Amino acid sequence: MPRRYAERMRATLLYGPGDVRWEEVPDPVIADPRNAIVRVVAACVCGSDLWHYRGVTPAPSEPKRIGHEFVGIVEEVGADVSRVKPGDFVIAPFYDCDMTCDNCRYGFSTSCRELCWWG
Ligand SMILES: [Zn+2]
Repeated sequence: MPRRYAERMRATLLYGPGDVRWEEVPDPVIADPRNAIVRVVAACVCGSDLWHYRGVTPAPSEPKRIGHEFVGIVEEVGADVSRVKPGDFVIAPFYDCDMTCDNCRYGFSTSCRELCWWG
């Protein structure tokens, strides 16, 4: 059952070069049992966001969420999540990995076979 939040979720969206907006977005849901929902406390701007903001690379066709490097508090976890629990303070890099595949075990987690990007 999706959790209901007292406040609507907001996100920073990049619409095009120099056009950043802070808007309400749909509440998050656990879409995969390996997911977690984190209430963001602070986020930063990644260099990859600046490429679009500065017009160095083509703007996304749809508004793109930015601020994918953040810290926050875990609100909810999927059924298969065992290393974090609601209430934990977490640091999120710009990608997710499983830490079990060959690439992760040899220290190349950015090449994880289950690699996931968010933002
Ligand atoms: Zn992996």
